[in-house]
Amino acid sequence: MIRIDGVKVAKEVKEKLREETNQIVNSGRRAPHLTAILVGLDGASQTYVASKEKDCHEIGFGSEVIRMPETTTESELLELIEKINQSETTDGLIVQLPLPKHISEKKVTDAISPLKDVDGFTPANFGLVTRGEGGYIPATPFGILKLLEAYKIETKGKHVVVLGRSNIVGRPMSILLSQASPTGNATVTLCHSKTENLEFYTKHADIVVVAIGISEFLKGNMLKEGATVIDVGITRVSDSSNPRGYVLKGDADYASLEGVCYAATPVPGGVGPMTRTGLMLNTLEAYKKKFNLD
Ligand code: NAP
Repeated sequence: MIRIDGVKVAKEVKEKLREETNQIVNSGRRAPHLTAILVGLDGASQTYVASKEKDCHEIGFGSEVIRMPETTTESELLELIEKINQSETTDGLIVQLPLPKHISEKKVTDAISPLKDVDGFTPANFGLVTRGEGGYIPATPFGILKLLEAYKIETKGKHVVVLGRSNIVGRPMSILLSQASPTGNATVTLCHSKTENLEFYTKHADIVVVAIGISEFLKGNMLKEGATVIDVGITRVSDSSNPRGYVLKGDADYASLEGVCYAATPVPGGVGPMTRTGLMLNTLEAYKKKFNLD
């Protein structure tokens, strides 16, 4: 089974982004800039934001993390977003999810200027992407398309089963794979928690994208021989033998795929690094749009 190496592909994409950023800066322009807002002290969110900051530094982007206390009110956060929407020096803006319970994620997401919405979560971008008219592709589906491309995994005419219908992963993924594009043209089935006889669909899939947040849910015996598995899930599972007290698990039982699948992404080291790459690609795109660069 081929191990689809997201770390390696992300490194290659980041190297290209670094070269392009160098050229931009050498031509006398400022570097693209990503601003992230983090509310509260959620452990996983802090790790994700730190990784995004590291990626920016490696590529040569400017970056800033605005850390707000857990007690931040919704109106304070909306005010900050509006300020950054107007800022001349920020090209991309992300608000790390999840937010504390007293803040509406929908209101916050919708408040981000579509021009700076490099996570691709606003209705405006979602609409453009759905219609195949540009817009920022949400970072995780974008990263997955890049992985499929890098490993030359054909989607045209294939049956892809997507497990999970969230607005940030499953649903946009299913739309993108069904579009008439080089990384689309698949016949797509979108499954969710109310799907009956789920195995019927997974057993008839050439590619399964699993994004449900249940560790090791998808087993090799639920798949047909030669299938490819793209595992989006990341769950922290307690493990006292690990110095961190937990291990990261995907939604697929990777060991059980061996001998059944053609290829699969590991967790960690598969989709995760590519999600960050998707974000970086969108940030450069936002910068270019702003300055009418090609
Ligand atoms: P989410 O909003 O938590 O939604 C989960 C989806 O899975 C829902 O559509 C739900 O169906 C469906 N589901 C739940 N149980 C199911 C079952 N037994 N069979 C079939 N479908 C089922 O999902 P998300 O935000 O997309 O996140 C999914 C996972 O991906 C999480 O582990 C998250 O941490 C991870 N993630 C990773 C990355 C990355 O960069 N690697 C990025 C984003 C998310 P209903 O709609 O019917 O409830």
